[in-house]
Amino acid sequence: MDKLKPCPFCGSNMAFVQNSVVDKQTEGVHFDIPVAVVTCGYCCATVGFFKIKGDISIEEAEAKAIEYWNMRAGDEEDYDEL
Ligand SMILES: [Zn+2]
Repeated sequence: MDKLKPCPFCGSNMAFVQNSVVDKQTEGVHFDIPVAVVTCGYCCATVGFFKIKGDISIEEAEAKAIEYWNMRAGDEEDYDEL
């Protein structure tokens, strides 16, 4: 797992990752949606990632959430796949 960078808003090192599966029912169709969220434990800034279509594991959702949390203005090479 990639290490979390300090919070871009308050600078603390209190960020942590949480993940779960959201149970969603839409027009009779049932989805289990993997959700991963990085939250700053000090100022509560949050970056989340989930995907409705396609197969993605909790681990992949978590890796994406961490990648987005660690993204900073000026890191242009990181924007390629967005
Ligand atoms: Zn913060």
